[in-house]
Amino acid sequence: MKPTACYALTAAFVLLAGAPSPVRAADGAIAVVAAQNFYGDIAKQIGGGHIALTDVPITPGQDPHLFEPSPAIARQIADARIVIINGAHYDPWAENLLKVSRKPTRIVIDAARLTGKKHGDNPHLWYDPKTMPAVARAVADALSKADPAHAAEYKANLATTLAKLAAIDKRVDELKARHGGKPVAATEPVFGPMANALGLITRNERFQLAIMNETEPSARDIAAFERDLKNRNVKILIYNKQVNAKLAQRMVALAEKSKVPIVAVTETMPADTSYVDWMLGTLDALDKALNEPNT
Ligand SMILES: [Zn+2]
Repeated sequence: MKPTACYALTAAFVLLAGAPSPVRAADGAIAVVAAQNFYGDIAKQIGGGHIALTDVPITPGQDPHLFEPSPAIARQIADARIVIINGAHYDPWAENLLKVSRKPTRIVIDAARLTGKKHGDNPHLWYDPKTMPAVARAVADALSKADPAHAAEYKANLATTLAKLAAIDKRVDELKARHGGKPVAATEPVFGPMANALGLITRNERFQLAIMNETEPSARDIAAFERDLKNRNVKILIYNKQVNAKLAQRMVALAEKSKVPIVAVTETMPADTSYVDWMLGTLDALDKALNEPNT
């Protein structure tokens, strides 16, 4: 369920109603809008005090697939100098807002386009360890273009950010060596790109796509998933706690009953953390669950 026409209409109305705004925030900082808070975290690390960052307010209690932007977000996207979106149809509302407020000076960083992904691919790109280094480089380029006076600072911040991101690659390599080839189940495909990077064998993929797309999985797919949990054909269950589907909760209950360890993940970065710490924390939880004696 992804209504798109109404976003465009809302945005068009807002743009017609308002006067043109400067591309920079009042304090002279570069206006950056991140459609997801983890991209905003990377922008903040590279731009530091030279950017005025707006993170689109999606909390870990909300399903981002169902997000509808407010007129304020439409205005901020229209006015921004740099906009970072996920793309791959994860945030069609942002793509629509960009379309209705075309501006030649605005730089759009589309994580999907950067990493060669398209509509129909698993859109949870930030769980692929290759994505964020590419986004970080694009952010540094965009900032240097928008504000050449501080290019050296952006370059140095990029190097620091890439070094921090490398900790994720190191952890992925360790876990892949330890757990690669183990079968896992997931209620939803959010963690899929990371599971692939770790060499885990993800079962029940049709069920996951149905939950993500809010369609009903087939009786056969539900039965196969239940069998996997009951017979413990999978080592762990990865559960997207940000998507509130009844069937997914049924699988969580069955995993508990069958003593299959559960790893809860979120789509949106929790408050008061960074992208790197969030990823490392999730990888630690996964490692712990896969190390449990009965897995
Ligand atoms: Zn999702």
